[in-house]
Amino acid sequence: MARSSLGKLPKRYSFILNPYTDARLSRCPKCNKLTYLRKFVLFIHIEQWGSLALGKTCRYCSHCELIMAHKDELDAELARSFSQLAPEVIGNDYMVMGTVEKKAWEAGLGRSGQPLTEALKHVAQFKRYYDFHYKPAGWYPADDKSGK
Ligand SMILES: [Zn+2]
Repeated sequence: MARSSLGKLPKRYSFILNPYTDARLSRCPKCNKLTYLRKFVLFIHIEQWGSLALGKTCRYCSHCELIMAHKDELDAELARSFSQLAPEVIGNDYMVMGTVEKKAWEAGLGRSGQPLTEALKHVAQFKRYYDFHYKPAGWYPADDKSGK
C-alpha cells in the first residue's frame, strides 16, 4: 500500500475545493449521484503560518470517495479559528492537504498547543485533487437572431 509522504497513513479520498458560492454540489460532479453531508477533519496548510486540523462538514460522495468543500465556508471557518489565534494570517493562501483521523482529533491532537509531529501520524493525504468547473444555469447573452 502506498504511504503518503506527509502523514503516516495511506492516502485516502479525493478532494474538490468548490469556489462557486451558487453551486452547492447536491450531486457529485463526477458520477452525478446524490451527495450527502459528512463531517471530516481537514488538515490544512496555511501560508506563512503552518498547519492546522479543522473539523468541517463537507459534501461527500461515497461512490467516488470524493470530499467537496465550499471555499466560502472554509474561508469563514478559518477566519473564525484565526481571529483569536493569529488574526494576521487571515486571508493567507491555504491548501487542504488531507484528512485527520477523527478519533485522534477529538482527543485533541493537532489543535493549538499539540505537537504537530504527533498529529501528523494521523493524517492521510488526499489521493488526488479535482478542479470543479461550473457554469451557472440562467440567461446568457447569445447572438441576437430575433431580427429586430
Ligand atoms: Zn461521485
